[in-house]
Amino acid sequence: MEERKSQEVILRGIGGSPGICIGKAYLVDKEGVDVVKKYIVSEESLSAEVGRFKTAVKKAGEALRRIIDDTPEEFRQHVQILETHVVVLEDKMLYDRTIDMIEKERINAEWALKKVVSLVKPKFENMSDDYLKQRAEDITHVSNRIMENLVGADPVDIARIDKRVILVARELSPEETSQIKLERIKGFVANRGGRDSHTGIIARTLEIPAVLGVGNATLKIKNDDIIIVDGKAGTVVVNPTEQTLLETEERRERYEMKKALVARKSHLPARSKDGIRISVMGNIELPEEVVSVLDHGGDGIGLYRTEFQYLSRPNLPSEEMLFENYKDVIDVMGKRPVTIRTLDINGDKTVNYIRDNQERNPALGLRAIRYCLKKPEIFKTQLRAILRAAAYGNVRILIPMISGVEEVEQAVQLLDEAAQHLEQQGIAHNRNVPVGIMIEVPSAVITADILAEKVDFFSIGTNDLIQYTLAIDRGNRHVAHLYQPLHPAILRMIKQTCEVARTAGIKTYMCGEMAGEPLYAPILLGLGVDELSTNPQTIPQVKDAIRSIDTTDVGDFMDAVMRQTTPDAVEALVAEKYGAVDEKDDHLKQEH
Ligand code: PEP
Ligand code: MG
Repeated sequence: MEERKSQEVILRGIGGSPGICIGKAYLVDKEGVDVVKKYIVSEESLSAEVGRFKTAVKKAGEALRRIIDDTPEEFRQHVQILETHVVVLEDKMLYDRTIDMIEKERINAEWALKKVVSLVKPKFENMSDDYLKQRAEDITHVSNRIMENLVGADPVDIARIDKRVILVARELSPEETSQIKLERIKGFVANRGGRDSHTGIIARTLEIPAVLGVGNATLKIKNDDIIIVDGKAGTVVVNPTEQTLLETEERRERYEMKKALVARKSHLPARSKDGIRISVMGNIELPEEVVSVLDHGGDGIGLYRTEFQYLSRPNLPSEEMLFENYKDVIDVMGKRPVTIRTLDINGDKTVNYIRDNQERNPALGLRAIRYCLKKPEIFKTQLRAILRAAAYGNVRILIPMISGVEEVEQAVQLLDEAAQHLEQQGIAHNRNVPVGIMIEVPSAVITADILAEKVDFFSIGTNDLIQYTLAIDRGNRHVAHLYQPLHPAILRMIKQTCEVARTAGIKTYMCGEMAGEPLYAPILLGLGVDELSTNPQTIPQVKDAIRSIDTTDVGDFMDAVMRQTTPDAVEALVAEKYGAVDEKDDHLKQEH
Protein backbone atom coordinates (compact mmCIF):
# COMPACT_ATOMS: atom_id res chain seq x y z
CA MET A 1 0.00 0.00 0.00
CA GLU A 2 1.20 3.49 -0.69
CA GLU A 3 0.11 7.00 0.25
CA ARG A 4 1.48 10.23 -1.26
CA LYS A 5 2.02 13.45 0.67
CA SER A 6 3.92 16.12 -1.31
CA GLN A 7 7.12 14.43 -2.47
CA GLU A 8 7.22 11.99 0.40
CA VAL A 9 5.88 8.49 -0.03
CA ILE A 10 4.49 6.33 2.78
CA LEU A 11 4.79 2.57 2.37
CA ARG A 12 2.84 0.28 4.66
CA GLY A 13 3.90 -3.14 5.90
CA ILE A 14 3.87 -5.15 9.10
CA GLY A 15 5.58 -3.85 12.24
CA GLY A 16 8.39 -6.39 12.66
CA SER A 17 10.29 -4.78 15.51
CA PRO A 18 9.36 -1.59 17.40
CA GLY A 19 11.37 1.60 17.39
CA ILE A 20 11.89 4.46 15.01
CA CYS A 21 14.94 5.20 12.91
CA ILE A 22 15.83 7.76 10.28
CA GLY A 23 18.62 7.19 7.81
CA LYS A 24 19.87 6.40 4.33
CA ALA A 25 18.55 3.36 2.48
CA TYR A 26 20.98 0.62 1.43
CA LEU A 27 19.52 -1.86 -1.02
CA VAL A 28 20.59 -5.48 -0.94
CA ASP A 29 19.11 -7.26 -3.89
CA LYS A 30 20.35 -10.79 -4.04
CA GLU A 31 17.78 -11.87 -6.57
CA GLY A 32 19.44 -9.76 -9.23
CA VAL A 33 20.67 -12.94 -10.91
CA ASP A 34 17.13 -13.50 -12.18
CA VAL A 35 17.24 -10.47 -14.43
CA VAL A 36 19.90 -11.66 -16.81
CA LYS A 37 19.88 -9.93 -20.22
CA LYS A 38 20.85 -11.22 -23.64
CA TYR A 39 23.41 -9.46 -25.83
CA ILE A 40 25.46 -10.35 -28.90
CA VAL A 41 29.22 -10.68 -28.45
CA SER A 42 31.52 -9.49 -31.24
CA GLU A 43 33.75 -12.04 -32.99
CA GLU A 44 36.92 -10.68 -31.42
CA SER A 45 35.43 -10.74 -27.88
CA LEU A 46 34.26 -14.34 -28.10
CA SER A 47 37.29 -15.95 -26.52
CA ALA A 48 37.21 -13.38 -23.72
CA GLU A 49 33.54 -14.23 -23.15
CA VAL A 50 34.38 -17.94 -22.94
CA GLY A 51 37.19 -17.02 -20.56
CA ARG A 52 34.72 -15.09 -18.40
CA PHE A 53 32.52 -18.17 -18.17
CA LYS A 54 35.48 -20.43 -17.31
CA THR A 55 36.60 -18.04 -14.55
CA ALA A 56 33.09 -17.96 -13.10
CA VAL A 57 33.01 -21.79 -13.05
CA LYS A 58 36.46 -21.92 -11.49
CA LYS A 59 35.48 -19.50 -8.76
CA ALA A 60 32.32 -21.50 -8.02
CA GLY A 61 34.41 -24.70 -7.81
CA GLU A 62 36.90 -23.08 -5.46
CA ALA A 63 34.15 -21.82 -3.20
CA LEU A 64 32.60 -25.29 -3.02
CA ARG A 65 35.92 -26.96 -2.33
CA ARG A 66 36.64 -24.50 0.47
CA ILE A 67 33.39 -25.50 2.17
CA ILE A 68 34.15 -29.19 1.68
CA ASP A 69 37.69 -28.87 3.05
CA ASP A 70 36.49 -26.97 6.10
CA THR A 71 34.11 -29.75 7.07
CA PRO A 72 35.46 -31.95 9.90
CA GLU A 73 36.12 -35.59 9.04
CA GLU A 74 33.22 -36.95 11.11
CA PHE A 75 30.69 -35.00 9.06
CA ARG A 76 32.12 -35.83 5.67
CA GLN A 77 29.00 -37.65 4.51
CA HIS A 78 27.07 -34.38 4.73
CA VAL A 79 29.19 -32.68 2.11
CA GLN A 80 28.45 -35.35 -0.43
CA ILE A 81 25.92 -33.06 -2.02
CA LEU A 82 28.58 -30.39 -2.53
CA GLU A 83 30.90 -32.92 -4.05
CA THR A 84 28.13 -33.71 -6.50
CA HIS A 85 27.95 -30.00 -7.26
CA VAL A 86 31.66 -29.88 -8.04
CA VAL A 87 31.13 -32.71 -10.51
CA VAL A 88 28.09 -31.03 -12.07
CA LEU A 89 30.12 -27.84 -12.49
CA GLU A 90 32.46 -29.53 -14.87
CA ASP A 91 29.93 -31.83 -16.44
CA LYS A 92 29.98 -31.80 -20.22
CA MET A 93 26.25 -31.19 -20.34
CA LEU A 94 26.57 -27.89 -18.58
CA TYR A 95 30.14 -26.76 -19.11
CA ASP A 96 30.87 -27.80 -22.70
CA ARG A 97 27.42 -26.97 -23.96
CA THR A 98 27.50 -23.45 -22.55
CA ILE A 99 30.88 -22.77 -24.14
CA ASP A 100 29.56 -24.21 -27.37
CA MET A 101 26.55 -21.98 -27.27
CA ILE A 102 28.58 -18.83 -26.55
CA GLU A 103 30.76 -19.57 -29.56
CA LYS A 104 28.08 -20.71 -32.00
CA GLU A 105 25.35 -18.19 -31.20
CA ARG A 106 27.78 -15.40 -30.23
CA ILE A 107 25.81 -14.62 -27.11
CA ASN A 108 26.91 -13.53 -23.66
CA ALA A 109 27.84 -16.19 -21.10
CA GLU A 110 24.88 -15.44 -18.77
CA TRP A 111 22.35 -15.92 -21.55
CA ALA A 112 24.05 -19.05 -22.84
CA LEU A 113 24.11 -20.59 -19.36
CA LYS A 114 20.48 -19.72 -18.80
CA LYS A 115 19.52 -21.37 -22.09
CA VAL A 116 21.54 -24.51 -21.44
CA VAL A 117 20.03 -24.87 -17.97
CA SER A 118 16.54 -24.52 -19.40
CA LEU A 119 17.34 -27.33 -21.85
CA VAL A 120 19.11 -29.68 -19.45
CA LYS A 121 16.97 -29.32 -16.32
CA PRO A 122 13.70 -30.71 -17.70
CA LYS A 123 15.52 -33.85 -18.82
CA PHE A 124 16.35 -34.63 -15.21
CA GLU A 125 12.99 -33.48 -13.89
CA ASN A 126 11.20 -35.89 -16.18
CA MET A 127 13.25 -38.92 -15.15
CA SER A 128 11.37 -41.59 -13.26
CA ASP A 129 14.26 -42.33 -10.90
CA ASP A 130 13.92 -40.14 -7.78
CA TYR A 131 17.65 -39.79 -7.33
CA LEU A 132 18.18 -38.52 -10.85
CA LYS A 133 15.15 -36.26 -10.51
CA GLN A 134 16.83 -34.53 -7.59
CA ARG A 135 19.87 -33.79 -9.74
CA ALA A 136 17.73 -31.11 -11.39
CA GLU A 137 18.05 -29.22 -8.10
CA ASP A 138 21.82 -29.62 -8.22
CA ILE A 139 21.87 -28.03 -11.63
CA THR A 140 19.92 -25.07 -10.28
CA HIS A 141 22.32 -24.63 -7.35
CA VAL A 142 25.37 -24.93 -9.51
CA SER A 143 24.14 -22.63 -12.28
CA ASN A 144 23.11 -20.04 -9.67
CA ARG A 145 26.62 -20.09 -8.25
CA ILE A 146 28.15 -19.59 -11.68
CA MET A 147 25.60 -16.91 -12.52
CA GLU A 148 26.36 -14.99 -9.32
CA ASN A 149 30.00 -14.92 -10.30
CA LEU A 150 29.16 -13.85 -13.86
CA VAL A 151 26.91 -10.96 -12.94
CA GLY A 152 29.20 -10.01 -10.10
CA ALA A 153 26.28 -10.28 -7.70
CA ASP A 154 28.09 -11.25 -4.53
CA PRO A 155 25.70 -13.00 -2.21
CA VAL A 156 24.64 -10.39 0.33
CA ASP A 157 27.31 -10.19 2.95
CA ILE A 158 25.55 -8.19 5.59
CA ALA A 159 28.37 -8.60 8.06
CA ARG A 160 30.60 -6.54 5.75
CA ILE A 161 28.37 -3.48 5.36
CA ASP A 162 30.32 -0.68 6.95
CA LYS A 163 27.99 2.32 6.74
CA ARG A 164 25.32 3.54 9.12
CA VAL A 165 22.38 2.59 6.95
CA ILE A 166 18.90 1.12 6.86
CA LEU A 167 18.84 -2.17 4.92
CA VAL A 168 16.18 -2.59 2.27
CA ALA A 169 15.79 -6.08 0.82
CA ARG A 170 13.28 -8.31 -0.86
CA GLU A 171 13.79 -10.77 1.92
CA LEU A 172 16.29 -11.27 4.70
CA SER A 173 16.78 -14.80 5.95
CA PRO A 174 17.11 -15.41 9.69
CA GLU A 175 20.77 -16.24 9.04
CA GLU A 176 21.43 -12.92 7.30
CA THR A 177 19.54 -11.00 9.95
CA SER A 178 21.63 -12.54 12.67
CA GLN A 179 24.77 -11.19 10.98
CA ILE A 180 23.60 -7.61 11.32
CA LYS A 181 26.13 -5.48 13.15
CA LEU A 182 24.25 -3.23 15.50
CA GLU A 183 26.71 -0.37 15.35
CA ARG A 184 26.23 -0.17 11.59
CA ILE A 185 22.68 -1.13 10.68
CA LYS A 186 20.02 1.22 12.03
CA GLY A 187 17.02 -0.74 10.89
CA PHE A 188 15.61 -2.73 8.05
CA VAL A 189 12.77 -3.01 5.60
CA ALA A 190 11.82 -6.12 3.63
CA ASN A 191 9.30 -6.86 0.93
CA ARG A 192 8.45 -10.18 2.50
CA GLY A 193 8.04 -11.64 5.97
CA GLY A 194 5.51 -11.63 8.79
CA ARG A 195 5.78 -10.37 12.34
CA ASP A 196 6.60 -13.70 13.95
CA SER A 197 8.85 -14.98 11.19
CA HIS A 198 12.31 -15.73 12.56
CA THR A 199 13.56 -12.64 10.79
CA GLY A 200 11.10 -10.50 12.79
CA ILE A 201 12.05 -12.21 16.03
CA ILE A 202 15.75 -11.58 15.50
CA ALA A 203 15.12 -7.93 14.65
CA ARG A 204 13.30 -7.55 17.95
CA THR A 205 16.10 -9.30 19.80
CA LEU A 206 18.65 -7.01 18.22
CA GLU A 207 16.39 -4.08 19.06
CA ILE A 208 16.50 -2.63 15.61
CA PRO A 209 13.35 -1.15 14.13
CA ALA A 210 12.06 -3.27 11.26
CA VAL A 211 9.11 -3.19 8.88
CA LEU A 212 8.39 -6.42 7.02
CA GLY A 213 5.97 -7.52 4.32
CA VAL A 214 6.02 -4.15 2.53
CA GLY A 215 5.61 -5.84 -0.85
CA ASN A 216 7.29 -3.27 -3.07
CA ALA A 217 9.93 -1.63 -0.87
CA THR A 218 12.81 -2.53 -3.20
CA LEU A 219 10.97 -0.91 -6.10
CA LYS A 220 9.92 2.26 -4.32
CA ILE A 221 13.11 2.92 -2.39
CA LYS A 222 16.39 3.78 -4.09
CA ASN A 223 19.89 3.57 -2.67
CA ASP A 224 20.68 6.62 -0.50
CA ASP A 225 17.04 7.75 -0.25
CA ILE A 226 16.34 9.17 3.20
CA ILE A 227 13.78 6.94 4.86
CA ILE A 228 12.00 6.72 8.20
CA VAL A 229 11.24 3.28 9.56
CA ASP A 230 8.53 3.09 12.20
CA GLY A 231 8.60 -0.49 13.43
CA LYS A 232 5.58 -0.01 15.67
CA ALA A 233 3.22 1.44 13.09
CA GLY A 234 4.68 -0.72 10.32
CA THR A 235 5.34 2.25 8.04
CA VAL A 236 8.25 3.45 5.94
CA VAL A 237 8.37 7.10 4.84
CA VAL A 238 10.50 7.66 1.76
CA ASN A 239 11.95 11.16 1.19
CA PRO A 240 10.20 12.70 4.21
CA THR A 241 9.44 16.44 4.32
CA GLU A 242 11.14 18.71 6.88
CA GLN A 243 7.92 18.74 8.86
CA THR A 244 7.71 14.93 8.96
CA LEU A 245 11.36 14.70 10.00
CA LEU A 246 10.76 17.10 12.88
CA GLU A 247 7.66 15.29 14.06
CA THR A 248 9.37 11.91 13.82
CA GLU A 249 12.37 13.07 15.79
CA GLU A 250 10.04 14.21 18.60
CA ARG A 251 8.18 10.93 18.52
CA ARG A 252 11.46 9.01 18.61
CA GLU A 253 12.56 10.91 21.70
CA ARG A 254 9.22 10.24 23.44
CA TYR A 255 9.53 6.55 22.60
CA GLU A 256 13.06 6.32 24.00
CA MET A 257 11.98 8.15 27.19
CA LYS A 258 9.11 5.74 27.82
CA LYS A 259 11.39 2.83 27.24
CA ALA A 260 13.89 4.21 29.76
CA LEU A 261 11.11 4.72 32.30
CA VAL A 262 9.94 1.12 32.16
CA ALA A 263 13.54 -0.09 32.13
CA ARG A 264 14.23 1.51 35.51
CA LYS A 265 12.14 -1.08 37.34
CA SER A 266 13.24 -3.97 35.20
CA HIS A 267 15.73 -5.37 37.71
CA LEU A 268 13.09 -5.84 40.38
CA PRO A 269 11.21 -9.14 40.45
CA ALA A 270 7.84 -9.24 38.72
CA ARG A 271 5.20 -9.76 41.41
CA SER A 272 1.50 -9.51 40.77
CA LYS A 273 -0.54 -7.16 42.98
CA ASP A 274 -1.35 -10.09 45.23
CA GLY A 275 2.30 -11.03 45.57
CA ILE A 276 2.69 -13.94 43.13
CA ARG A 277 6.18 -13.98 41.68
CA ILE A 278 6.35 -14.75 37.97
CA SER A 279 9.71 -15.36 36.33
CA VAL A 280 10.24 -13.41 33.14
CA MET A 281 13.00 -14.93 31.10
CA GLY A 282 14.79 -13.99 27.89
CA ASN A 283 14.93 -15.67 24.49
CA ILE A 284 18.30 -15.61 22.77
CA GLU A 285 19.71 -16.74 19.45
CA LEU A 286 23.40 -16.02 20.05
CA PRO A 287 25.50 -16.25 23.20
CA GLU A 288 26.30 -12.51 23.01
CA GLU A 289 22.66 -11.68 23.63
CA VAL A 290 22.81 -13.12 27.11
CA VAL A 291 24.14 -9.78 28.35
CA SER A 292 21.08 -8.08 26.96
CA VAL A 293 18.85 -10.48 28.94
CA LEU A 294 20.60 -9.49 32.18
CA ASP A 295 20.57 -5.80 31.25
CA HIS A 296 16.82 -5.96 30.79
CA GLY A 297 16.25 -7.74 34.10
CA GLY A 298 15.66 -11.27 32.79
CA ASP A 299 15.36 -14.01 35.43
CA GLY A 300 17.07 -16.56 33.19
CA ILE A 301 17.11 -17.86 29.64
CA GLY A 302 13.74 -19.35 28.74
CA LEU A 303 14.77 -20.24 25.21
CA TYR A 304 18.21 -20.49 23.68
CA ARG A 305 17.66 -21.10 19.96
CA THR A 306 20.85 -23.03 19.34
CA GLU A 307 20.40 -23.42 15.58
CA PHE A 308 22.08 -20.09 14.86
CA GLN A 309 25.40 -21.69 15.76
CA TYR A 310 24.81 -23.98 12.80
CA LEU A 311 23.43 -21.37 10.42
CA SER A 312 26.19 -18.82 10.51
CA ARG A 313 29.06 -21.04 9.42
CA PRO A 314 30.19 -23.08 6.41
CA ASN A 315 30.07 -26.46 8.15
CA LEU A 316 28.83 -28.28 11.22
CA PRO A 317 30.20 -27.00 14.54
CA SER A 318 32.23 -29.45 16.61
CA GLU A 319 31.24 -30.69 20.07
CA GLU A 320 33.95 -28.52 21.57
CA MET A 321 32.68 -25.36 19.88
CA LEU A 322 29.15 -26.05 21.05
CA PHE A 323 30.29 -26.83 24.57
CA GLU A 324 32.28 -23.57 24.81
CA ASN A 325 29.32 -21.72 23.49
CA TYR A 326 26.82 -23.11 25.97
CA LYS A 327 29.29 -22.73 28.80
CA ASP A 328 29.74 -19.05 27.92
CA VAL A 329 26.01 -18.49 28.33
CA ILE A 330 25.82 -20.54 31.53
CA ASP A 331 28.81 -18.73 33.06
CA VAL A 332 27.17 -15.35 32.54
CA MET A 333 23.81 -16.50 33.90
CA GLY A 334 25.28 -18.00 37.10
CA LYS A 335 22.56 -19.82 39.06
CA ARG A 336 19.73 -18.64 36.83
CA PRO A 337 18.09 -21.26 34.62
CA VAL A 338 19.36 -21.60 31.04
CA THR A 339 16.94 -23.44 28.76
CA ILE A 340 18.91 -24.87 25.86
CA ARG A 341 16.66 -25.87 23.01
CA THR A 342 18.06 -28.61 20.81
CA LEU A 343 18.61 -27.97 17.14
CA ASP A 344 15.54 -26.60 15.33
CA ILE A 345 16.76 -26.39 11.75
CA ASN A 346 14.89 -26.59 8.48
CA GLY A 347 11.47 -25.01 8.24
CA ASP A 348 12.49 -21.40 7.58
CA LYS A 349 15.99 -21.99 8.98
CA THR A 350 17.88 -23.93 6.35
CA VAL A 351 21.54 -24.79 6.63
CA ASN A 352 23.18 -24.75 3.22
CA TYR A 353 25.84 -27.35 3.91
CA ILE A 354 23.37 -29.97 5.10
CA ARG A 355 20.64 -29.22 2.62
CA ASP A 356 20.47 -32.76 1.38
CA ASN A 357 16.84 -32.77 0.46
CA GLN A 358 14.68 -30.10 -1.08
CA GLU A 359 11.29 -29.99 0.55
CA ARG A 360 8.07 -28.74 -0.94
CA ASN A 361 6.61 -27.92 2.48
CA PRO A 362 9.60 -27.25 4.73
CA ALA A 363 7.41 -26.15 7.66
CA LEU A 364 5.83 -29.61 7.60
CA GLY A 365 9.04 -31.38 6.71
CA LEU A 366 12.16 -32.78 8.29
CA ARG A 367 12.45 -29.97 10.81
CA ALA A 368 13.78 -29.84 14.40
CA ILE A 369 13.52 -33.13 16.35
CA ARG A 370 12.52 -34.97 13.17
CA TYR A 371 15.80 -33.99 11.58
CA CYS A 372 17.77 -34.78 14.73
CA LEU A 373 16.31 -38.27 15.04
CA LYS A 374 17.13 -38.90 11.41
CA LYS A 375 20.71 -37.72 11.99
CA PRO A 376 21.50 -39.12 15.43
CA GLU A 377 25.21 -38.41 15.12
CA ILE A 378 24.59 -34.68 14.69
CA PHE A 379 22.05 -34.73 17.52
CA LYS A 380 24.33 -36.65 19.87
CA THR A 381 27.18 -34.20 19.29
CA GLN A 382 24.88 -31.45 20.50
CA LEU A 383 23.52 -33.48 23.41
CA ARG A 384 27.03 -34.29 24.61
CA ALA A 385 27.94 -30.60 24.47
CA ILE A 386 24.82 -29.66 26.46
CA LEU A 387 25.36 -32.35 29.09
CA ARG A 388 28.98 -31.27 29.52
CA ALA A 389 27.99 -27.61 29.85
CA ALA A 390 25.25 -28.60 32.31
CA ALA A 391 27.97 -29.49 34.81
CA TYR A 392 28.57 -25.74 35.22
CA GLY A 393 25.11 -24.30 35.89
CA ASN A 394 21.36 -24.58 35.98
CA VAL A 395 20.48 -26.09 32.60
CA ARG A 396 17.16 -27.25 31.20
CA ILE A 397 16.95 -29.13 27.91
CA LEU A 398 14.06 -28.29 25.61
CA ILE A 399 13.12 -30.40 22.58
CA PRO A 400 11.34 -28.64 19.71
CA MET A 401 8.51 -29.73 17.46
CA ILE A 402 7.41 -32.82 19.34
CA SER A 403 4.32 -34.29 17.71
CA GLY A 404 4.08 -37.64 19.49
CA VAL A 405 5.43 -39.60 22.41
CA GLU A 406 7.82 -41.81 20.43
CA GLU A 407 9.85 -38.77 19.52
CA VAL A 408 10.25 -37.94 23.20
CA GLU A 409 11.24 -41.51 24.00
CA GLN A 410 13.80 -41.64 21.23
CA ALA A 411 15.27 -38.26 22.16
CA VAL A 412 15.59 -39.27 25.83
CA GLN A 413 17.18 -42.55 24.77
CA LEU A 414 19.81 -40.66 22.76
CA LEU A 415 20.36 -38.33 25.69
CA ASP A 416 20.95 -41.34 27.95
CA GLU A 417 23.36 -42.85 25.45
CA ALA A 418 25.26 -39.57 25.21
CA ALA A 419 25.49 -39.44 29.02
CA GLN A 420 26.67 -43.06 29.22
CA HIS A 421 29.45 -42.41 26.72
CA LEU A 422 30.57 -39.35 28.60
CA GLU A 423 30.55 -41.41 31.78
CA GLN A 424 32.62 -44.16 30.15
CA GLN A 425 35.08 -41.61 28.84
CA GLY A 426 35.33 -39.98 32.25
CA ILE A 427 34.25 -36.58 30.89
CA ALA A 428 32.56 -34.20 33.34
CA HIS A 429 28.86 -33.79 32.66
CA ASN A 430 25.46 -33.61 34.34
CA ARG A 431 22.60 -35.89 33.23
CA ASN A 432 20.45 -34.70 36.06
CA VAL A 433 18.82 -31.88 34.09
CA PRO A 434 15.11 -31.23 33.54
CA VAL A 435 14.05 -32.28 30.06
CA GLY A 436 11.04 -30.51 28.57
CA ILE A 437 9.31 -30.26 25.24
CA MET A 438 8.02 -27.44 23.12
CA ILE A 439 4.25 -27.55 22.78
CA GLU A 440 3.94 -26.12 19.29
CA VAL A 441 2.23 -28.81 17.22
CA PRO A 442 -1.52 -29.30 17.76
CA SER A 443 -1.10 -33.06 18.28
CA ALA A 444 1.14 -32.30 21.28
CA VAL A 445 -1.67 -30.30 22.91
CA ILE A 446 -4.20 -33.02 22.27
CA THR A 447 -1.91 -35.71 23.67
CA ALA A 448 -0.42 -33.50 26.39
CA ASP A 449 -1.51 -35.99 29.07
CA ILE A 450 0.57 -38.74 27.43
CA LEU A 451 3.56 -36.45 26.91
CA ALA A 452 3.43 -35.03 30.45
CA GLU A 453 4.23 -38.52 31.78
CA LYS A 454 7.57 -38.44 29.99
CA VAL A 455 8.90 -34.92 30.59
CA ASP A 456 9.72 -32.45 33.34
CA PHE A 457 8.11 -29.35 31.82
CA PHE A 458 6.25 -27.94 28.85
CA SER A 459 7.13 -24.77 27.00
CA ILE A 460 4.46 -23.44 24.67
CA GLY A 461 5.83 -22.15 21.37
CA THR A 462 2.98 -19.98 20.22
CA ASN A 463 4.72 -18.95 17.00
CA ASP A 464 4.44 -22.41 15.59
CA LEU A 465 1.36 -23.40 17.53
CA ILE A 466 -0.51 -20.56 15.82
CA GLN A 467 1.05 -21.41 12.46
CA TYR A 468 0.11 -25.08 12.65
CA THR A 469 -3.27 -24.68 14.36
CA LEU A 470 -4.64 -21.90 12.20
CA ALA A 471 -2.79 -23.07 9.07
CA ILE A 472 -1.10 -19.67 8.67
CA ASP A 473 2.46 -19.53 7.35
CA ARG A 474 4.15 -17.32 9.92
CA GLY A 475 6.35 -15.71 7.26
CA ASN A 476 3.66 -14.98 4.67
CA ARG A 477 2.55 -11.37 4.62
CA HIS A 478 -0.62 -12.17 2.69
CA VAL A 479 -2.08 -14.12 5.59
CA ALA A 480 -0.45 -12.07 8.37
CA HIS A 481 -3.85 -10.60 9.32
CA LEU A 482 -5.08 -14.12 10.14
CA TYR A 483 -2.15 -14.87 12.43
CA GLN A 484 -4.10 -14.32 15.66
CA PRO A 485 -2.73 -15.25 19.08
CA LEU A 486 -6.09 -14.48 20.73
CA HIS A 487 -8.02 -16.83 18.46
CA PRO A 488 -10.32 -18.97 20.64
CA ALA A 489 -8.61 -22.12 19.31
CA ILE A 490 -5.25 -20.90 20.59
CA LEU A 491 -6.61 -19.82 23.97
CA ARG A 492 -8.29 -23.20 24.43
CA MET A 493 -5.08 -25.00 23.51
CA ILE A 494 -3.04 -23.02 26.03
CA LYS A 495 -5.69 -23.65 28.69
CA GLN A 496 -5.76 -27.37 28.01
CA THR A 497 -1.97 -27.64 28.09
CA CYS A 498 -1.73 -25.81 31.41
CA GLU A 499 -4.53 -27.86 32.99
CA VAL A 500 -3.06 -31.18 31.89
CA ALA A 501 0.40 -30.16 33.08
CA ARG A 502 -0.96 -29.08 36.46
CA THR A 503 -2.70 -32.43 36.92
CA ALA A 504 0.53 -34.22 36.02
CA GLY A 505 2.50 -32.03 38.44
CA ILE A 506 4.70 -30.28 35.88
CA LYS A 507 5.03 -26.60 34.97
CA THR A 508 4.02 -24.88 31.75
CA TYR A 509 6.20 -22.10 30.42
CA MET A 510 5.69 -20.00 27.33
CA CYS A 511 8.48 -18.86 25.02
CA GLY A 512 6.60 -17.92 21.85
CA GLU A 513 6.22 -14.27 20.90
CA MET A 514 2.77 -14.15 22.51
CA ALA A 515 4.56 -14.14 25.88
CA GLY A 516 6.19 -10.81 24.96
CA GLU A 517 2.98 -8.88 24.44
CA PRO A 518 2.28 -7.03 27.71
CA LEU A 519 -1.45 -6.78 26.99
CA TYR A 520 -1.74 -10.57 26.88
CA ALA A 521 -0.08 -11.09 30.28
CA PRO A 522 -3.37 -11.14 32.29
CA ILE A 523 -4.81 -13.73 29.92
CA LEU A 524 -1.71 -15.92 30.00
CA LEU A 525 -1.55 -15.88 33.80
CA GLY A 526 -5.31 -16.51 33.87
CA LEU A 527 -4.88 -19.53 31.63
CA GLY A 528 -2.27 -20.92 34.01
CA VAL A 529 1.08 -20.25 32.32
CA ASP A 530 3.76 -20.43 35.03
CA GLU A 531 6.63 -18.52 33.44
CA LEU A 532 7.06 -16.22 30.45
CA SER A 533 10.04 -15.90 28.15
CA THR A 534 10.44 -13.17 25.58
CA ASN A 535 12.89 -11.11 23.55
CA PRO A 536 15.23 -9.34 25.98
CA GLN A 537 14.00 -5.85 25.24
CA THR A 538 10.37 -6.65 26.08
CA ILE A 539 11.21 -8.15 29.48
CA PRO A 540 10.75 -4.79 31.30
CA GLN A 541 7.33 -4.22 29.77
CA VAL A 542 6.14 -7.75 30.51
CA LYS A 543 7.31 -7.38 34.12
CA ASP A 544 5.50 -4.06 34.32
CA ALA A 545 2.31 -5.65 33.03
CA ILE A 546 2.49 -8.47 35.60
CA ARG A 547 2.77 -5.89 38.40
CA SER A 548 -0.63 -4.46 37.53
CA ILE A 549 -2.47 -7.81 37.65
CA ASP A 550 -4.30 -9.15 40.68
CA THR A 551 -4.43 -12.89 40.11
CA THR A 552 -7.20 -13.29 42.68
CA ASP A 553 -9.62 -11.53 40.41
CA VAL A 554 -8.73 -12.95 37.01
CA GLY A 555 -11.21 -15.83 37.44
CA ASP A 556 -14.35 -13.96 36.33
CA PHE A 557 -12.39 -12.12 33.70
CA MET A 558 -11.13 -15.41 32.25
CA ASP A 559 -14.64 -16.86 32.21
CA ALA A 560 -15.65 -13.88 30.07
CA VAL A 561 -12.54 -14.23 27.88
CA MET A 562 -13.26 -17.87 27.16
CA ARG A 563 -16.85 -17.08 26.20
CA GLN A 564 -15.73 -14.71 23.41
CA THR A 565 -15.94 -16.03 19.88
CA THR A 566 -13.44 -13.80 18.08
CA PRO A 567 -9.90 -12.52 18.71
CA ASP A 568 -11.14 -8.92 18.41
CA ALA A 569 -13.71 -9.45 21.14
CA VAL A 570 -11.02 -10.92 23.45
CA GLU A 571 -8.71 -8.01 22.72
CA ALA A 572 -11.48 -5.49 23.44
CA LEU A 573 -12.18 -7.21 26.75
CA VAL A 574 -8.58 -7.25 27.93
CA ALA A 575 -8.05 -3.67 26.74
CA GLU A 576 -11.11 -2.58 28.72
CA LYS A 577 -10.02 -4.20 31.97
CA TYR A 578 -6.24 -3.87 31.69
CA GLY A 579 -6.11 -1.00 29.24
CA ALA A 580 -3.86 0.97 31.54
CA VAL A 581 -1.14 -1.59 30.89
CA ASP A 582 -1.51 -1.06 27.21
CA GLU A 583 -1.75 2.73 27.31
CA LYS A 584 1.50 2.90 29.23
CA ASP A 585 2.97 0.97 26.37
CA ASP A 586 1.24 2.96 23.72
CA HIS A 587 4.41 3.57 21.78
CA LEU A 588 5.85 0.17 22.37
CA LYS A 589 2.90 -1.89 21.30
CA GLN A 590 2.93 -3.57 17.92
CA GLU A 591 0.18 -3.02 15.42
CA HIS A 592 -0.65 -6.08 13.42
C1 PEP B 1 7.73 -20.94 18.75
O1 PEP B 1 7.46 -21.66 17.79
O2 PEP B 1 6.86 -20.27 19.37
C2 PEP B 1 9.10 -20.82 19.24
C3 PEP B 1 9.38 -20.20 20.36
O3 PEP B 1 10.10 -21.35 18.46
P1 PEP B 1 10.61 -20.73 17.10
O4 PEP B 1 10.04 -19.34 16.99
O5 PEP B 1 12.09 -20.75 17.14
O6 PEP B 1 10.04 -21.65 16.07
MG1 MG C 1 8.85 -23.08 17.05
